[in-house]
Order: sequence, then C-alpha cells, then structure tokens
Amino acid sequence: MSVYNDILTELGNVKLIAVSKTKPIASISILYNDGQRMFGENKVQEMTEKYEALPKDIEWHLIGHLQTNKVKYIAPFVTMIHAVDSMKLLLEIEKQAARCQRTIKVLLQMHIAQEETKFGLDTKELIEILEYYTSNPDLLKHIRIVGLMGMATNTDDQNIVRKEFKDLANKFGYAKQSYLVGYDDFTELSMGMSSDYKIAIEEGSSMVRIGSLLFGHR
Ligand SMILES: *Cc1c(COP(=O)(O)O)cnc(C)c1O
Repeated sequence: MSVYNDILTELGNVKLIAVSKTKPIASISILYNDGQRMFGENKVQEMTEKYEALPKDIEWHLIGHLQTNKVKYIAPFVTMIHAVDSMKLLLEIEKQAARCQRTIKVLLQMHIAQEETKFGLDTKELIEILEYYTSNPDLLKHIRIVGLMGMATNTDDQNIVRKEFKDLANKFGYAKQSYLVGYDDFTELSMGMSSDYKIAIEEGSSMVRIGSLLFGHR
C-alpha cells in the first residue's frame, strides 16, 4: 500500500486536496496516475504554470493568501479559492469570474489560530460578508460561498489545535443556521494539514489539505 492509498482509506468521505506547492510536475503526474484529481497550490504563478502543463480534468484549489490584483490570472480555470478574507477580494473574484463566464467556488477563511500572522476573518466580518451575499444575489452570480476554511496554531499541543478546530466547526454551524438556510451548497469545512488532519476529521472537517505527508518535506 502506498502512503496515498493509506491516507485515502483513513479519510473515507473526507475530500483530499493534495498540496503540491514547490513540487515538480512529475510528482503531481504520479499522484494523478494514481487517480488524484484535486490539487492545491498557494502561489498564483506556480499554479498557472502547472495548470497549463497538466491534464485539464484536474481541479485546482488556491489555498493560500490571494492578492486582489492576481485573481484575473487564475479566474479562467480555478475551481475553488480557499482563503477569501475580505469583501474586496470576494468582489474581485465575482468580477473576474463574470468576465470568464464561470462560477468560482469560494471558502471564507476564519482566523482561529493564536498566531497574529495567520490571515482570516473574525465573526463580525464573517457576518458582514454573509449578509451581503444573501441580500445581493444579483451582484454575486458568479461565486458560490461553499464553506469555511481555517488553519490551527502551529503547535504540538493537540488540545489547542482541537479547540481551534471545534471553534471553526461551531462557526460553520452558526453561519449555516443563522444565514444560509436553503443554501444547500454550503457544505465544506476545509481544515487539517499533514500534522493535524486526524484531529480535524474528528472535529468535522469535510476537506483536508495535505502536502508534506504525500510529497515529502519541502
Ligand atoms: C502548505 C499548506 C498546506 C499543507 O501543509 P502540509 O503541512 O505540507 O500538509 C495546507 N494548507 C495551506 C493553506 C498551506 O499553505
């Protein structure tokens, strides 16, 4: 059994985003030939180059922080943008998706970690975006907010990580019940990486983003 198959078995219905950032095309092709179709990258230029070189049935997920002025480069092909952390970015994704006559799925990134440096929205900002989204459907026809994403603190203390994932899962439930009743595509909770995906799954993750465990250290 390969590491890939072991992980797939462990995940069950949880989706796997194979995080291929910094890894060569050849490494992605190996996993592609094993059947993997969802790949995650955190840099726009690198993702665009890999998109051009690889089979077109790959789903590309932009998982890192995205600058507004770079949305236009990925709008023609990106499937999901995981780290939407401002209204400004959301509106730019709408604009570029409309230009390409596409619908782009997005996740709102929540700030759950203790580190100051990690990007993400607080609850107030989340509510502002959800209120805008639900009251202006005509202005946001080319995006679908399909869930939330978050990154736990980088620590060996599993209790801290678990608490942060619980917190994110609670925010997901709150968003769904208070703002998104009837939005049946709000289903994704993107949480968990190589070091903490098991805890994330126990806490309700629907989608894990795993890099080093699959491809080796960067
Ligand atoms: C790099 C990265 C990952 C994957 O990290 P690993 O520890 O290699 O599994 C997941 N999510 C984001 C946002 C990343 O930037």
